[in-house]
Amino acid sequence: MKQINIPNQFELFLSYEQLSPQGFEYGLTHVYYQLDNNCIYFKFISEIKEDETTEILKLKSNSVNYKEIINDFLIEYFTIPQNTIGRLLFDSSSLFSEEEFNQIKETCRLNQVNRINEHIEKASNNELILFLTQQGLSPIPTYSDGTNWYATCPNQRKHSMMVNTHSNQWGCGYCRKKGNLNDLKEWCDSLKKS
Ligand SMILES: [Zn+2]
Repeated sequence: MKQINIPNQFELFLSYEQLSPQGFEYGLTHVYYQLDNNCIYFKFISEIKEDETTEILKLKSNSVNYKEIINDFLIEYFTIPQNTIGRLLFDSSSLFSEEEFNQIKETCRLNQVNRINEHIEKASNNELILFLTQQGLSPIPTYSDGTNWYATCPNQRKHSMMVNTHSNQWGCGYCRKKGNLNDLKEWCDSLKKS
């Protein structure tokens, strides 16, 4: 990777589009960077939402490959699902080629898959999750916390309910139902009879 110098005022280095699953474009987001006091400041400015977020990255050493550091920062940033809406599309960059940007995206995707698989592995003996799986209610952990899961609600199977593998409780806000494993078993039985 080539060595770069980071400006001491905010400078644009990346623009990307976000695409909804239906193909709707959310508008470009422009990313700026600036070096100050052994920190790199990043500014994310969204064209459509007209909002601005700042991220700060503390540099650990003086002999650094900035491009690699920014590359790693972007991987960390884009791996967090809340930081993006829809699929990322490269627009332009003074630092990364489209291929390098796509490599960042792919690393983020793999990180997310690994994290979800870790959550699934950890809950492999959880009776509530095992029951939901047996019933075909497709329990899926949320990305950030392995104890919070979604599953298909057994009532009509058209919406989701929340499940927690720490408290071993479940709840559906739509049906206004909640309880423990036995409550769920009873509810599933009564739904089958009705
Ligand atoms: Zn429900």
